Amino acid sequence: MKKPLVAVLSGAGISTDSGIPDYRGPNGLWRRDPEAEKLVTYEYYMGDPEIRRRAWRMRREAGTLHARPNAAHRAVAELERAGVPVRVLTQNVDGLHQLAGMPARKVLELHGTARGVVCTGCGARGAMEDALARVDAGEEDPPCGACGGVLKPATVMFGERLDPVVLGEALSIAKACEVFVAVGTSLQVQPAAGLAGVAADHGARLVVVNAEPTPYDDRAAEVIREPIGTALPELLRGLG
Ligand code: ZN
Repeated sequence: MKKPLVAVLSGAGISTDSGIPDYRGPNGLWRRDPEAEKLVTYEYYMGDPEIRRRAWRMRREAGTLHARPNAAHRAVAELERAGVPVRVLTQNVDGLHQLAGMPARKVLELHGTARGVVCTGCGARGAMEDALARVDAGEEDPPCGACGGVLKPATVMFGERLDPVVLGEALSIAKACEVFVAVGTSLQVQPAAGLAGVAADHGARLVVVNAEPTPYDDRAAEVIREPIGTALPELLRGLG
């Protein structure tokens, strides 16, 4: 018998055990601090070199690249290794699902990745690690090595559109999956909220694992409020 497709939609809550705070959720750090929000807002970032210099300093100090996957990330990767078809749709930009062992082609990063940089002029891509090494070496706002254009993280900043290809794939998975697990996301912002709705509309069994209530709890077959680090491994073992 063909095993059912499991979609895991993950938000900031899955990475807090890895020491990464919720930056961009409705109550996230950036939303509560207008000055910090400017650092990740496309218009300000492109328009003001001082904002960029502060943003590079912030990235250097945040140390996001050093974060390690936790039990919840590992549980998702283990389910995939057990032979269950799994796709991850993540709002996170930390790359921790892949570091835990999920094949990159099975992870859709809805908001891009903080592990890469992209040139806003020519589109050239590179590693964040290399860009941060240049900041360490004294470049306060390292430009693109190819064209001299402004470099930014390969994340979707506020004011930028989501990648329509990634979004289209995420919608297809939401429609096709038989189980849709929303973990560590408040389901209050798009596209996360829409994806949960699409999955439920198409008959998926919706499971919500989140400390706080979400607008989709009443459509969920199961709502789990326990800590993600223990609740998700237990839930996924049941699916495997
Ligand atoms: Zn360039």
